[in-house]
Amino acid sequence: MAKGALSVDTEHLFPIIKKWLYSEKDIFIREVISNACDAITKHKRLISLGETIDDETNYKITVSADKDNRTITVKDNGIGMNAEEVQKYINNIALSGAVEFISKYEGESKSGIIGHFGLGFYSMFIIAEKVEMFTRSYKGGDGVHWVCDTNGNFESEPCERDGHGTEIIMHVADDELAYLDNEKLKAILSRYCAFMPYDIALTDGENEEIVNDTNPIWQRNPQDVSEEQYNEFYKKVFDDYDDPLFTVHIVADYPLNFKGVLFIPKRKTGYDSTESEIKLFYNSVFVADNIKEACPEHLANFKGVLDCPELPLNVSRSYLQNDAYIRKIASHISKKVADKFNLLFNNDREKLQKNWKEMKPYFEYACMRDEKFGDRVRNSLIFETANGDYKTIPEYLNNAEEGVVYYTTDKEAQSYYLGLFAEKEKDVVVFDSIIDSSFSQYFESKNEKIKFRRIDSGFEQGDIKDSEKLVSLFRKASEKEEIAITFTSLGENGAAALISLPEESRRFADMMKMYSLSSGNEAFKMPNSEAIVINIDNPIIKKLENGEDEEKAILTAKHIYLSALLLSRTLTADEAKEFVRLNNILL
Ligand code: ADP
Repeated sequence: MAKGALSVDTEHLFPIIKKWLYSEKDIFIREVISNACDAITKHKRLISLGETIDDETNYKITVSADKDNRTITVKDNGIGMNAEEVQKYINNIALSGAVEFISKYEGESKSGIIGHFGLGFYSMFIIAEKVEMFTRSYKGGDGVHWVCDTNGNFESEPCERDGHGTEIIMHVADDELAYLDNEKLKAILSRYCAFMPYDIALTDGENEEIVNDTNPIWQRNPQDVSEEQYNEFYKKVFDDYDDPLFTVHIVADYPLNFKGVLFIPKRKTGYDSTESEIKLFYNSVFVADNIKEACPEHLANFKGVLDCPELPLNVSRSYLQNDAYIRKIASHISKKVADKFNLLFNNDREKLQKNWKEMKPYFEYACMRDEKFGDRVRNSLIFETANGDYKTIPEYLNNAEEGVVYYTTDKEAQSYYLGLFAEKEKDVVVFDSIIDSSFSQYFESKNEKIKFRRIDSGFEQGDIKDSEKLVSLFRKASEKEEIAITFTSLGENGAAALISLPEESRRFADMMKMYSLSSGNEAFKMPNSEAIVINIDNPIIKKLENGEDEEKAILTAKHIYLSALLLSRTLTADEAKEFVRLNNILL
């Protein structure tokens, strides 16, 4: 029997491991199971190299808990070890690895480090007071029975054993007995080992359940994954009941080497978090959640998985924020998202339209936040038109390099104006989210000859002559000395007058309104910039122009003015009262 003590400077190692990783205790499972996976991979590799015979092993890792004996057992049928290898790999290499890991990171703030990846074999002492191992090498010979306690004292002796592989028995410490619960073990396995490459069976002695998916979609060829499979994956991994709105699968090999699948989740409430949620993997082994640094900032809200075998792990988040490699990954992601979007736009527009209403704000935002992204997709963003079509801005303008895009922000409230556009068979795009108006300004800034105008923002006067009489009448009637009065021709059945709001001042007012909403300051009072547009074809207007009775003319003009307001917005209480009073008199 070999006896020994792990060298002196490691005397306090296990208590340190336990204390230091207290908030991340569960990682011991990942470390033990990824060793088991490595051992199986090595065995497979030896077969393929012809260095051992193919004994048709059904590779599997079995995990079980025994409440009576207070043990958790992890068993693999990988490469195994002989006595020399146990001495070399477990007593020396694994131990110095753990010492190095702890001495390197102990000083750092725990929460800053992602994943705590690579502590290795001795991480079991986070929850165990004693670890026992039975192992036998694929080369045959005696098996090895090895036991180590929390003080680092180990014993090792030959034992009878069949086959090849390793069985590790963790004797759970008194204060960690909760780990003996199968449900808890299953939850931890599902978090850390859900995509490891060999079957992991959790067994209670009678039934066993495979807890992992050995062929996760991001490791597959995108051509071989169906939309349903992406959706199922998303719902399972991100615990959602809705399908995602948009999916992009990225396989990068050179010079960047990473794989990933990103999703745009369906929004549940207006208050969903606006941070990306990226799960980071290292060759299918889970490292950490919420690596939002890897997702470009302008693609906020994306969720997904990234598998980056080249990312330096065990780095702090602040390091990630400044890391050039991560930035390259992020910019590659941005490009791929744009490519996928353009592909959908070009090849499957119907599908794009299906979820577009919810997707649009994400893409408008991304265009505005990131110049390159904007340049890539700006002209593929589509907008619903008032009659239910979808058009890009270039399509709206028939690819003309200059022109005006008319839009409505509220089909209901602006329906009278919409009717006027419909009569002229002129398209109107629907801008129904707050971000649309910012997007239109962004678009204008990129194309100086293209302008956006809300449908109530002005009417061409053409060569219609001003009528002094009507101007002064309506100024009196509206009680606004300075109000602009213009003339247009809307046919004899058209409204007698309409209100128009110059685009620029309305935008400014909207902006101030948003500002006062977000800052909590009192709403800024805009100088009134609306104009009254008079329809010279309307018979009542004609009468007013030719009529004599000044007093009646003012009452009528007031009524017309309030009717015009009514077509553009809700009346205030005073306006409504006045409107009813005038109705009574005039009718
Ligand atoms: P790492 O896995 O990063 O090398 P560990 O501390 O986890 O470090 O393990 C050290 C070594 O112990 C491994 O490289 C491997 O040689 C050996 N080892 C650990 N677990 C097993 C196992 N289940 N089967 C065979 N060898 C193992």
